[in-house]
Formats: sequence, C-alpha cells, structure tokens
Amino acid sequence: MKKALTVFLSAGAVMTALANVPQVAPWGVSLNYVDTKTRPGDDFFKYSNGGWLKSASIPPDRQVAGVNLEIDKSNETKMSAVVVALLTKDEASLTADERKLRDFFNAYQDVAAVEAKGLAPLKGDLERIAELKNPDEVAAYMGDPSTYSGGPFELGISIDDGNPNIYRPRFVQSGLGLPDRDYYLSTDKELVSTREAYKVYIANMLKFVNVDDPQRIAAVYELEKHIAELHWPAAERRDAERIYNPMSVSELEKLAPAFPWQAYLKAAGVSLKSPQGERIVVVNEKSSFAPLAKLFAATPTAVWRDYLRLHLLRSLAGLLPEKINDANFAFYGVIVGGQKKQMPRDLRALELLDRQMGEALGRLYCEKYFPAESKAKLKVLVDNLVKAYAAEIRTLAWMSPETRAKALEKVMTFYPKIGYPDKWRDYSALSISRTDLIGDDRNSRLFEWHRELKRIDEPVDRTEWDMTPQTNNAEYNPALNEIVFPAGGLQPPFFDPNADDAVNYGGIGATIGHEMSHGFDDQGSKYDASGRLHEWWTAEDRKRFEALTSKIAQQYSQFEPLPGLHLNGRLTLGENIADIAGLVIANRAYHLSLNGKSAPVLDGYSGDQRFFLAYGQSWREIMNDNLTRRLVVSNEHSPDQYRVNGVVRNLDAWYEAFSVKSEAKLYLPPPQRVPVW
Ligand SMILES: [Zn+2]
Repeated sequence: MKKALTVFLSAGAVMTALANVPQVAPWGVSLNYVDTKTRPGDDFFKYSNGGWLKSASIPPDRQVAGVNLEIDKSNETKMSAVVVALLTKDEASLTADERKLRDFFNAYQDVAAVEAKGLAPLKGDLERIAELKNPDEVAAYMGDPSTYSGGPFELGISIDDGNPNIYRPRFVQSGLGLPDRDYYLSTDKELVSTREAYKVYIANMLKFVNVDDPQRIAAVYELEKHIAELHWPAAERRDAERIYNPMSVSELEKLAPAFPWQAYLKAAGVSLKSPQGERIVVVNEKSSFAPLAKLFAATPTAVWRDYLRLHLLRSLAGLLPEKINDANFAFYGVIVGGQKKQMPRDLRALELLDRQMGEALGRLYCEKYFPAESKAKLKVLVDNLVKAYAAEIRTLAWMSPETRAKALEKVMTFYPKIGYPDKWRDYSALSISRTDLIGDDRNSRLFEWHRELKRIDEPVDRTEWDMTPQTNNAEYNPALNEIVFPAGGLQPPFFDPNADDAVNYGGIGATIGHEMSHGFDDQGSKYDASGRLHEWWTAEDRKRFEALTSKIAQQYSQFEPLPGLHLNGRLTLGENIADIAGLVIANRAYHLSLNGKSAPVLDGYSGDQRFFLAYGQSWREIMNDNLTRRLVVSNEHSPDQYRVNGVVRNLDAWYEAFSVKSEAKLYLPPPQRVPVW
C-alpha cells in the first residue's frame, strides 16, 4: 500500500503518454493478462483477465482492485498535484476558488484542531435536537437543510419527468442507516449478522452523546426496521411511471395526512405557492407515503430525538475526532464495505473537496490533465456510435414505422457532454474558513441546496453537469436525453487516442453505446426525444420489446455470485440491456469505421478478437464479498464478471470471433440470444 506521503511526493511526476505510443503495450490490450488455458467460450472474463487474476489482491484500504482502482489512483495523483500546487502558491496569486479549496483542505488536515474541538462544533445541533417537543418541530428540523438529519422522507429538486423544461420538488422514501431494506428484513445469514453488528454500532455511536440506555438504543433500531418494512424494494423503485406521481401539496396532505408537510416544506424554504398556483410536488413511492407518515406520527418524539442524534453523528463522523471516525469506519468500512483500513487522510481530504467543491477542483484538474484533442477524438467516436445506432434502428425487423421514426429522432438528438462543462459553477456565494471544518461542510451543503432551490419555477439549465469532471464514470440522463463522459474516465484502458481502433471501440465505444442504450432500456425507453415521460411506442412494439427483455432478466437471474445469492434480473435489467445493446452498437460502429476494408491481424488477434478482448479487460476487477453482497442486494449493476460473460454470449459476432461451439459453458443457442437490437 502506498503511504500518503508517497502520493504527494510522486504527484508532480504524473506520467503522460509518449507521443503516438499506446499506454498499454503493444496496442492497447495487456497480452500477459490473457489466460490462454481458459477457453474463451467457457469463461470470457477469465480468458481476458486470468493472467492478472492470479496475482490480483485488494489493497487493505480499498474495496476493489483492477481497472477502476487504477484509474481512481491516477485521478487521486492528479488531484493531489493540483492541491499541492495550491498549498505552495503565494497568497496574492490565488483565485477566490483556489483559496477556498486550499483552506477547506487545510481545515480537514488539521487533525490537532479536530481533536481539540471534539463535539463542540455540534453543540448547536445537539441542543436543537434536545429541545424538539412535538412532531411538527421534528418535521421542521428534518426539512431544515442546515441539519444532518435523515427521516422517512427526503426532499430533492429535479427535472419534472412530465415536463422536462422545469424543476420540481420531489419526495423520496428515506431514513435507513443500512444500505437497503433487505439488510433489516432478509434471512440471508450474512445480512442477519450485519444487522446484529449495526445494533452494536448504534450503541457505540450514541455513547458519544451520552445515550447508553439499552431500551433507547433498541428503539432507534426498531424505528428503522419499521421504516424498512414500509419501503418499496429496490427493483420496484426503478419503474419510471410508478415513481412519477405529481400532486399539489394539499393532495399530498390528503394522501399522507399524518405528516406535517407544510412545516417540513417551510423549513426547507419551498414556498407553497408557485406562479401557476398551488405548489406541485412529485411523490416517488406513493403507496409507502401514508404508512410512513403514520409511523412518523406514532413514534414518540423522544425516539426521534435519539434517531436524529445518531444520524447527525453518522453524517459527520469523517469530520469528527478519530474515535468517532473509527467507530463509524469499523461498521461502514469494515463490515458493510469489507475494507480493512481507512484510506490515508490526505486522500479522504480530496474526496471531501470532490464532493463539496467538485467543479472548482475539476476546473484545475482539466486545465492540467485533459487535453483538448481528447475531447475532439472522443466526439468522433460518439458520432460514429450515433451513426451505428441509427443504422441498427433503421434495419430492425420487429419495430413498426411509427415507433421507428420516433426512436430515430431520439438517437439523432442524443446530446453529448464530454470532459468538462462549458460553463463552470460559480462558488462565490460559498464561504470557507481555514478554522471551521464542520462549518465549511455545512456551508457547502447549504450552498448546494440554495443553488437547487432557486431553480424551482425556473427553466432547466441544459449546460449543467451532475458529475464532477474528475469522476471515473459516465451517465445517461433521460430527462435531457444527454450522454455524459467526464474527463476522469477517459483514460486507458477505456480510451487511448494512440491505441488500436478495435481497442477504443471495445473500451470507451462500448461505454458510449451503453449510455446511449439507457435511452432504450426498459425504463429509459419510456422517455421521448425531448425527455418527457410518456408512452410513445405502439402497444405491439412495447409488447415485443418486453418479451425480448424478459429473456435477459431470466438469463441474469440464474447467475449466483455468492452461494445462495442470485442476481435480481429485474433490478439489473436496465443496466444489462445497456451493456448488451451497447456492445452490439460499438461492434457495429467499429465495422463501419473500417470503411469496407478488413481489419489487420495484430499479434495473431483479428479485429473482432481485439474488440472483445478490450471489452473483457475493461471490466478487469475483483471486489470483496461484502461489497458484492451489498451491490447484489441494492445496486442496479451486475458484478463485473457478468458484465462480460452475461453480455458477450448474446452477440453472434463473439461466437464467430472465438469459434465458440455448443459445448462451451457460455454457449446460448441462437434463439435464446438477445442482442436487443
Ligand atoms: Zn448504466
């Protein structure tokens, strides 16, 4: 494991690629990772990565090893270099944002001050909680954006699915300390032991605020368990139509009368009137709202006070003295995450800056590490993927002309965002002090809340980014019909301007195809080209599409990553559709890019073999069992090996490239393959 200091010392010497030489020799795929003893048709993930898997191990301060960790580390090194430069720059030459970043960083790194203050920075919060006397006051406290409170409902401001030109307040079920309702309710042995450990955690945390009565501690757990019983399961929360329930505040009061909605909204700063009349809010898990409100009213205020104390400490544990931070990590890091030790403090400081001032940091990151030509090269790839997508939809046998015309319109209006935003966030309203870490964090949260709150009743800002530029990820946003690729993920092995074309199409090309395909997954396909949620497919087309995708759900439900723990084919359906369709489109785009010529053979590998190998290696990752369990229970993505093996077996081109025959373990007879398009 690298020590914190090493990261800083090496930060100035970030390697940049030599001109025209791929960073991964010889042409973008690590040939020494290929496991020639495994037949590609039996386990393509192992065939692609077996050489690496033999010696791979997860560092004690991480939950995974592989491609994502390597890219994350590369980004950490770059962000460190950016921050180190600020620490040594003279005061007069710092911009206002740079000074804030530096002071926030220094406030976090000042361990002596954090220890000396103890819980003093929370004095006001703890006093306010102690004075809460009735449900109205509890609800107002929960709605106040300056508190770190939790509660059965969470309020956000988001684009309205029914009218993607405006923002609306949106209420979502909330309130759990464990990652998902299954952690409270499942009979799975590991989840049972995790919740037993969680009870100990609650006791440990509440001791810091002098609550040690076992009955009071048990009451907090029981409250969360009751909330969990009323929550919708993760797979149901994906259904875009079921979770879109716009209603006026008075209708919400009728739906769930036991919760003081007006007190909550007033504290949040949301006015009950809009220019169009009564305020409309969107309710997510509609049928859970009335029972959650009843539970809220039936729970004694004293229990809510302890619940709020716990959630306050948990939210801020990373910014509090070591003993609190350690107690928090011992549960969330070690037991839930399977991590052995915390990351070095300076890296955690970077995470904090990324979370709270991400675009200020990202602006400096991009100036230094994201060349303009990368943006231009990726744009060419995106354009080719759009062409391939349109070609696929034009030739699709089962789609009717009406749906096809609208689907083509959607493809042609995908809006790509690459690298970093054209317009940077303005942090001038945010104040940061070198000597007030908790205050800095609170100010950042309030800054963000007020930024979002201001937008209610305002037109949608299409230039805005959800993710920070240094993020290693990509996304599709159905309400904007946009695909977003931050600079942080545009690195080898996904993307290397100097690598073989087949490698870039199998790497970032598959990612671009994946994000585009979210526009046509089981939920994304319900939004039209303008981002509006409504049915624009003919009934027959929708039926045919659902029949196809049900087969994908069945395929994935058979995978069993841990003994007795199967993937949930419904929960992961959207991601699996995007993986499969994305790879189909990327492969087609690769062939279009050859312009009728045949691909060269390199080191004995054909173009398609290199394409699939690059795809297989882009998912090179191992994770610990605890994290696997958490993802399978609550996350929409399949674990990495299935994002390779579950995908390639649906593509005819893969069978041809590696001569996969019926005796192979991943073999699917042609009628059972579902390439989506
Ligand atoms: Zn996805």
